Amino acid sequence: MKRIDEVNLRNKTVIIRVDYNVPINDKLEITDDNRIKESLKTINYCLDNNCKIILLSHLGKVKKEEDKLKYSLKPVSERLSLLLDKQVTFVPETRGNLVKETVLKMQPGDIVMLENTRFEDLNDKKESSCDLELAKYWASLGDIFINDAFGTCHRAHASNVGISKYLPSCLGFLVLKELDNLLPIINNPERPFTVILGGAKLSDKLKTVENLIKKADYILVGGAMAYTFLKANNEEVGKSLVDEDSLEFVKSLDKEKIILPIDHIVSLENKEETRVVDKISPNEIGLDIGPKTRELFKSFLEKSKTIFWNGPMGYYENPIYQEGTKYLCEVISKLDVTSVVGGGDSASCVINMGYKDKFTHVSTGGGASLELLEGKELPGINI
Ligand code: AMP
Repeated sequence: MKRIDEVNLRNKTVIIRVDYNVPINDKLEITDDNRIKESLKTINYCLDNNCKIILLSHLGKVKKEEDKLKYSLKPVSERLSLLLDKQVTFVPETRGNLVKETVLKMQPGDIVMLENTRFEDLNDKKESSCDLELAKYWASLGDIFINDAFGTCHRAHASNVGISKYLPSCLGFLVLKELDNLLPIINNPERPFTVILGGAKLSDKLKTVENLIKKADYILVGGAMAYTFLKANNEEVGKSLVDEDSLEFVKSLDKEKIILPIDHIVSLENKEETRVVDKISPNEIGLDIGPKTRELFKSFLEKSKTIFWNGPMGYYENPIYQEGTKYLCEVISKLDVTSVVGGGDSASCVINMGYKDKFTHVSTGGGASLELLEGKELPGINI
């Protein structure tokens, strides 16, 4: 694996795999452009080196023809153009004559973005199955490949691992920044090291949880995940979201370092009124951590030197249940600690609640950051 600043890019045609898998609403507006902003350093570095730049990215999951309408990268190319204050030529194809003609006409300093690489998934999953004929075709468009898409580094696709088989390749600044911030967390954290786990999908995170339990001093569990832990302890969790498939796994864990909520914000099904309770009744749903839990978690955070956070503390999509997540943001923002947020929903919360600059690092990759913390080697890094 080479770094971008170890490779001579001068006057070259570079293919940059970026991660522009950004949230887009029904009006095709981008609701969070953090990943586009984070990619600018590598793009500007290539512009300074007089490169021609070809950008590749996926957006969403493309399973049927209709998905193409909502997952075109055109709005993304327009936002990038705005952020760079420079023309970005969008090609609404992933290969073919228009791609070839556009690339042939490029001048140094030009930027071309091809259509969503996952449009190729409609054709026998060519992108996601790392089809080498497709990878070779994309590689034929440039001289050097730069992987700057941290969010897909845990997957071997044609547009990342595939292309790297056919071109001199290196990692871009965004990926390097992610590694610089995430690797010390598992390899050598300053102690006490506290992990905050929340969100809902425990089954996706089992290996990470297992590895982090070995490495961390304290694990604070909130969000829906806490109800799986409480149920595993035979506590009443009412109608709260529980990941039944992960109960046996949770029962097998060493609980010594695990701190669970001691009170909850609950509601009745389809009701907006909330109550704070220490014990959940059979007809209630736990939707956020309660005030005593916030204080309990704060006391552990205040004695920490390193904090890693993955997963919101509540059902934050409804503002009534954002308090726990916001409170932890506020507490961490005032501490002199290394604070790293894994990607996904917790990153969106931190950014949308206005705390991004208060954290040491907010990762752009959910699955990728978790797999890195599992201790895995990511295929997109080993290029
Ligand atoms: P994940 O993708 O695993 O990080 O989970 C994020 C999701 O967990 C978000 O959609 C949150 O609304 C959801 N979530 C967090 N806490 C709760 C809860 N107590 N009840 C239901 N959903 C929750």
